[in-house]
Amino acid sequence: MPNRCGACRQEGHNRTRCPHDAATATSLREAFNRAQREDAQRRYNALQERQAALNERTRAIQSSNEEWRETVYSQVVDMQQRLRALTNETGQLTPPRTGPTVREVKIQEILFEHCQEIPEGLYKELMDALVIRG
Ligand SMILES: [Zn+2]
Repeated sequence: MPNRCGACRQEGHNRTRCPHDAATATSLREAFNRAQREDAQRRYNALQERQAALNERTRAIQSSNEEWRETVYSQVVDMQQRLRALTNETGQLTPPRTGPTVREVKIQEILFEHCQEIPEGLYKELMDALVIRG
């Protein structure tokens, strides 16, 4: 930091050797102070801009993280739903239902065996009910 004149704020001399008259020294001093303030303001603005850019980037990263998490989460939920659809309560894999269940086959057999004892309309209704697919 070079020594500056206390009166005019210029370098190379001090107040006692100042070549300027009081009015000139004052206007030189004010111009110097103004330049200092403007410089400080410029630095401050640049810092603010950098901070704002940093905040913006942080926000962008956070929101893209959130989107990524949501995507992964929905994929996990989807996989869990598919898995649940394929498994029964004991967690064992069950093949997709295509034919009648063991219980349905058993009931059909019983109905068939006793078809003579059941009114024809009821027999047909029960057999039809057994092949309904929900
Ligand atoms: Zn001076």
